[in-house]
Amino acid sequence: MPAGGTISVFPENDYGPNLWEFLNLLQETKPMAKVADYYSVNEANKPADKQVYHDNDQCRAGRDIPQSERRPGRGGYRHCNDCDK
Ligand SMILES: [Zn+2]
Repeated sequence: MPAGGTISVFPENDYGPNLWEFLNLLQETKPMAKVADYYSVNEANKPADKQVYHDNDQCRAGRDIPQSERRPGRGGYRHCNDCDK
């Protein structure tokens, strides 16, 4: 140990790359990401039985909602079926 050398909390030199690999793996094995409830401002224009809120960032319908048209909460709507998958 050289004098004045810093003590690393990571024992392996390649811990960094391994960490990224680990995080990537996590993302691949967890396709559905729960997020805070949100709904589209355009939901109000849909038939009542089609009005839903989302709570999953990987939901196709939910992802189609532009950030500017998203509102937090449930808006009194049903839970989106796709968000459950
Ligand atoms: Zn959804």
